[in-house]
Amino acid sequence: MAFGKYKEVYALKAKDNAVTGVAQDGGVVTALLCYALDQGIIDGAIVAGNSETPWLPKPVVATTKEEIIAAAGTKYTISPNVAAVKDAVREMGCDKLAVVGTPCQIYAIQKMRLYPFGARHVPDKIAMTIGIFCTENFTYQGLKTIIEDHCKVPIESVKKMEIGKGKFSIKADKDVAIPIKETHKYEQPGDHVCTDLTAEFADIATGSIGTPDGWSTTFGRTTRGTELLKKAIAAGVFESKAMADVQPGLPLLEKLEAAKKDKAKKHVEEMKSLGLFVTPGIIY
Ligand SMILES: Cc1cc2nc3c(=O)[nH]c(=O)nc-3n(C[C@H](O)[C@H](O)[C@H](O)COP(=O)(O)OP(=O)(O)OC[C@H]3O[C@@H](n4cnc5c(N)ncnc54)[C@H](O)[C@@H]3O)c2cc1C
Ligand code: SF4
Repeated sequence: MAFGKYKEVYALKAKDNAVTGVAQDGGVVTALLCYALDQGIIDGAIVAGNSETPWLPKPVVATTKEEIIAAAGTKYTISPNVAAVKDAVREMGCDKLAVVGTPCQIYAIQKMRLYPFGARHVPDKIAMTIGIFCTENFTYQGLKTIIEDHCKVPIESVKKMEIGKGKFSIKADKDVAIPIKETHKYEQPGDHVCTDLTAEFADIATGSIGTPDGWSTTFGRTTRGTELLKKAIAAGVFESKAMADVQPGLPLLEKLEAAKKDKAKKHVEEMKSLGLFVTPGIIY
């Protein structure tokens, strides 16, 4: 399967308006974290909070529902969430930590679980990883240039940004959308060798591709992730549909995941042909 192993997949939409009002897509990440906190399944969550600089996220160890909800929504630049794991455990005393991250960040957590160099007794306190789908990401300066020079909108006036259907769109005092191809040059170079769109190593992975607007395609990949999803659905946290009953469904996701892997493979071949260093052992 192009998008990795999973036990269950659902189309989900959070029912709580306080979540859907601020969430990026179906509010799966925020609603699930709030539910897990309520149930004592987690005692904290690393999320991408807001800093004093508009749209520059900073990792936050959220220990209340209010803090989780305040960090909802996608910020299209790096939030170094993995860097907060040690502090969450050693300084804040989290015993059952959830970590939200892009697929590359979930890789880092998995590596930390396997080889906890410099972080002994830390990874065993990670109770749940929630990976968000990711096609590409931007440097902060790149993001600012896209918004201010291409969309011609001051970044501080932006209320939401979105990538989808071939466009980079922003909601501000006026809504603006530009072709996604205009943004490619601002992507982080590392993204061009990245082979994971759907957070294949997360306990739960979620994103918008495959489901209608306002919904999320959500995989339960591990036993613990799938159990949390099932409990939350049974508790009425989400409206839930089978993926087979929504459009465009999994075929689109499969196509885009395969395209990302193929693009990365071609980029690696190109780098090799130029004699550039390529990290050994990249899996396609
Ligand atoms: C750089 C980037 C590229 C993406 N590309 C795609 C894509 O191509 N296709 C797709 O379907 N989905 C993509 N997503 C995911 C999508 O935008 C949503 O984040 C995801 O669908 C979850 O929506 P939600 O409503 O469940 O999340 P919400 O309930 O709104 O919660 C989002 C969670 O993600 C955290 N978060 C926000 N920004 C970041 C960040 N930069 N790094 C780490 N955590 C963050 C927030 O703090 C919050 O906890 C991308 C996300 C990012 C950050
Ligand atoms: S494209 Fe890959 S490397 Fe770049 S931010 Fe997304 S998951 Fe990480």
